[in-house]
Amino acid sequence: MSDRILILTGPPGAGKGTQAKRLVETYGIPQLSTGDMLRAARSSGSELGERVAGIMDRGELVSDDIVVALIEEQLSQHPAGAILDGFPRTVGQVEALEAMLGKAGRRVQGVVAIEVPDETVVERIAGRRSCPNCGAIYHLVNKPPAEADVCDVCGTSPLKQRGDDTAEAAKTRVAAYHRDTAPILTHYEPQGLVRRVDGIGTVDEVFGRLSSAIDELEKAAA
Ligand code: AMP
Repeated sequence: MSDRILILTGPPGAGKGTQAKRLVETYGIPQLSTGDMLRAARSSGSELGERVAGIMDRGELVSDDIVVALIEEQLSQHPAGAILDGFPRTVGQVEALEAMLGKAGRRVQGVVAIEVPDETVVERIAGRRSCPNCGAIYHLVNKPPAEADVCDVCGTSPLKQRGDDTAEAAKTRVAAYHRDTAPILTHYEPQGLVRRVDGIGTVDEVFGRLSSAIDELEKAAA
């Protein structure tokens, strides 16, 4: 299979994590989420986890070198490509990613941005819950589990709310998206690598739009 490196971007609460999991099943390449890696570091109680805990809870971005090192280690283990979820999030991270891929003779196939208005993002974040065991993602209103507070996939209860899913941290994260992350599109747009997808609708509807965008990028790269 050809190397396929896709960047999935969008504001917090746009549905990146949910959609990335569906994309993994469809395209057979792994999801590399720097947010998940950092949360795993925190739950393992590692020194890195302790270092990033406060920054994450406030909704701020951790430093570029930390996430770049995490991604570099993972990407080298996935020669068939990956869906990058939540990385790169700054222009500095784009530069580091391009340098590491260039050295390995690899390149980004495309960037898909899920677009959702700021008002919707905050409402989505407040209702978000996830399974502490298997990572399945729910929403109290838009995607509730069949039985209240019980994971449909593995039966774990209770579901949990992320520490940075408070209204205050959510506002900081939305601001960080507009200030630091949206500019990454400016880097990839002149190369024709950006596809913007409407993130409003059911998970299936958004997934349909995302897969069309990805198929289009695949054809363009061929
Ligand atoms: P996420 O799960 O992608 O929303 O990430 C949760 C938090 O982890 C963010 O609010 C940041 O504090 C941190 N984080 C995740 N990915 C990055 C990144 N690429 N650059 C900087 N901070 C990140």
